[in-house]
Amino acid sequence: MSTIQEYDLLITGGLVVTMNPGLDLIEEGYLLVRNGRIIEIGPRSQLRPAIAAKRVLDAGEKLVMPGLINAHTHAPMALFRGIADDRELMDWLANYIFPAEATAVTPDFVDWGTRLACWEMIRSGTTTFADMYFFEDTMADAAAQAGMRALLSQGIAEGPTPDSATAADGLARAEAFIAKWKGHPLIYPAVGPHSAYACKPSTLLRAKQIADQCAVPLLIHLAESQSENRLIQEQYHTTPVRHLGKLGLLDKNLVAAHCVWIDEEEIEMLYRHDVGIVHCPQSNMKLGSGIAPVPHFLKLGIKLGLGTDSPASNNRLNMVSEISAVAKLHKAAALDPTVVTAQQSIAMATMGAARALGMADEIGSLEVGKRADIVVVTLDEPNALPLYDIYSHMAYALESSNIETVIIDGRVVMENQVMMTLDTEAIRVQARQIKTKILGSLSVPHKGH
Ligand SMILES: [Zn+2]
Repeated sequence: MSTIQEYDLLITGGLVVTMNPGLDLIEEGYLLVRNGRIIEIGPRSQLRPAIAAKRVLDAGEKLVMPGLINAHTHAPMALFRGIADDRELMDWLANYIFPAEATAVTPDFVDWGTRLACWEMIRSGTTTFADMYFFEDTMADAAAQAGMRALLSQGIAEGPTPDSATAADGLARAEAFIAKWKGHPLIYPAVGPHSAYACKPSTLLRAKQIADQCAVPLLIHLAESQSENRLIQEQYHTTPVRHLGKLGLLDKNLVAAHCVWIDEEEIEMLYRHDVGIVHCPQSNMKLGSGIAPVPHFLKLGIKLGLGTDSPASNNRLNMVSEISAVAKLHKAAALDPTVVTAQQSIAMATMGAARALGMADEIGSLEVGKRADIVVVTLDEPNALPLYDIYSHMAYALESSNIETVIIDGRVVMENQVMMTLDTEAIRVQARQIKTKILGSLSVPHKGH
């Protein structure tokens, strides 16, 4: 058997954090990658001497971990980062974000916003993101060119959105988007009705029908704020979760972002129907929305992922920072440092997110047969010395600046912090130019420059 260039990539040495079901750690490990998948993983002592690979990465003294998953965001909104802050969700949406989107969001905006977001996400160790936005085709093209894995849903709402005059137009776009992208190795299409307050029941039902027919996930915002719950109470005399329950939307293909304002019975309902939840702690904090009952979700074993939400409500797309936040927020809220451990926080950004998004067979851990989405992190920097417990390090000590190399689908997309798939200078120029254009066309108050 020939061994010359039999493998695409060999990573040797380093501490491998697998996040597999046994949470195995491999002290001095190796991984072999072929055709975008992990073919072998184990201790380096078991690596056969005759192995040859097109690329060899030495990860000695480094951390090798699964790529992080940002399970809820709106990536192109990176171009709205800092446009309006310190406001309540409904005020922020109705008076700032929706008007800004109506004027500014074009295919060009989505293209450059996605590139900017992919740069920030790859730079901070994210290899997959789940998204809901507009001009989804443009977004898919930009994400695929950046080499990122993405679960992308066409955003749907009543009334005009940046790409659809009506909800029916948005639903038609969603169908066409799924037909075009289903089966792509990096882009996983989905349907994204914005929320129960932005979509009528008939729109939600049609979105669900499309998701079922095409066997793709349905992404939605759910019970994010008290104002959302008040709106649903006024319109439908129930809560957002019960409203979706009555419509028959609760099932294993539903990915519900936030779930902050839900009671115990509703948590049980979501668990029973195998709904995936995405917790966005920093966005919930910044918008003053509240604190989701995450310890309760964890106790039940709900499929639970972690997300940044949009870069306009966070204002980062940095999962290293999000892991650190979730590991601490719930301890303070519960006055109990034993809730939401370091390991559980990391699981939310890896296997938990993969489960919530219906992608657990493909990503979320370093295991044979899974996609080779791998992050190599230096442990040489002062904030990483000394090392006692790797999970403690990952949740409480590491920074995104420690991330050196990122591999997605077996392809090196960032090497030694140099972006391989994105023209970062062009993105810088465009981000500044688009900001100037947005300010010229908006009455949105802004501070500084
Ligand atoms: Zn969101």
